[in-house]
Amino acid sequence: MAEALLKVEGLARSFGAVQAVRGVSFELERGQVVGLIGANGAGKTTTMRILVGMDLQDAGQIWYDGVDATAEPWRLRGRIGWMPDAFNPPPHTTVWEYVDFYARAFGLKGAARWAEVQRVLAFCGLGEMEERMVDRLSKGETQRVNLARMLVGDPELVVMDEPAAGLDPRARVEFKHCVRELRQQGKTLLISSHIISELAEMCDAVILMDKGQILRNTPCEVLQAEPVVERRQGVWYEFAVVGDTGAGEVLVQGLLGSSVWQQAAVVSPGRVQALYLGAGGEALALELRALAAQHCLTEVVRRRVSLEQTVIDLMNGHE
Ligand code: ATP
Repeated sequence: MAEALLKVEGLARSFGAVQAVRGVSFELERGQVVGLIGANGAGKTTTMRILVGMDLQDAGQIWYDGVDATAEPWRLRGRIGWMPDAFNPPPHTTVWEYVDFYARAFGLKGAARWAEVQRVLAFCGLGEMEERMVDRLSKGETQRVNLARMLVGDPELVVMDEPAAGLDPRARVEFKHCVRELRQQGKTLLISSHIISELAEMCDAVILMDKGQILRNTPCEVLQAEPVVERRQGVWYEFAVVGDTGAGEVLVQGLLGSSVWQQAAVVSPGRVQALYLGAGGEALALELRALAAQHCLTEVVRRRVSLEQTVIDLMNGHE
């Protein structure tokens, strides 16, 4: 297993009576792209702000590449990039001047500073816009500036809070392309989002937070296959059946006559959907074999449960 770049243990943060983060522990391996998902108020932003040194935890420890991040934060400066969910662009400032300000703050001088501003503007597709006023840009363009300023100094860990929120479909695709390139550069990424399917496309794993705690920290495929969904709701199957015109109806009647099937219905000519509530494994195999013996089935498809539904189900289970 690869060495952990970031290790978080027992992180906690309260605001008055609100326990925003309650004992959060996880690790990020070098080069991993991990999504942080959860409902509004789950504690994602608070966790991220602590990780990047914008806030202090009440309890818990963070090690970054072996350095105690709370005790020696100055040793990590420049190694971690932070892209907040929103920022207020200043007036009377061009895109170049704005990003250049961060390059100066980073301590870059002369030709090296110029080259760095050029590099990040080109990466974010802002080369043509460097003379535009930063407070007059569209949402998508503003997010690109947000990304550009974060990439100044080439941080190795990139933490992004809702980076794709409010972007149009094309800008989302461009953003995913940026994430792919950052991954190829070997960066480690932690990205929060409400759009679970989008995270699943970009990330190796997702951390699901609810009410300040981590419910799951797992590869996306594993989350999708969570048995909790099956236990709680059953599994939908779709059958293709051939025969005379009533073949679908006959299959529906057959299914409804059994205690393990519910909500059977003809959804289009020759296609039937039904919810299976029985056991898996051998019991399921026997059930499908019995159906195939009685009806002329040409296809049996298990309908995938959406990742969104899985997450909602897990959170409901956490109530
Ligand atoms: P969202 O998806 O809506 O951004 P989130 O998962 O990022 O939500 P947080 O912003 O971390 O959640 O907030 C967690 C809880 O902590 C919320 O109940 C929020 O109201 C509270 N909270 C966060 N920051 C503060 C603060 N500075 N002062 C008081 N309460 C806060």
